Amino acid sequence: MQEIRCANCRKLLAKAQFLALEIKCPRCRTINTLRAESPAPERHRAPDQERQHDQTYHSVDWR
Ligand SMILES: [Zn+2]
Repeated sequence: MQEIRCANCRKLLAKAQFLALEIKCPRCRTINTLRAESPAPERHRAPDQERQHDQTYHSVDWR
């Protein structure tokens, strides 16, 4: 979970997990637009490459 705070007055607006969120602060009425920017290290390898995985790591040199 992630704390969503108003960019203007720092009021805690919500705790959530989100990809994108737009929330209006009830105190100062600032509209906060947020986007999750968590780089997922597990997505480092695309699913397509799993076919080649059982052989060698030549896929790194394939260019
Ligand atoms: Zn605010």
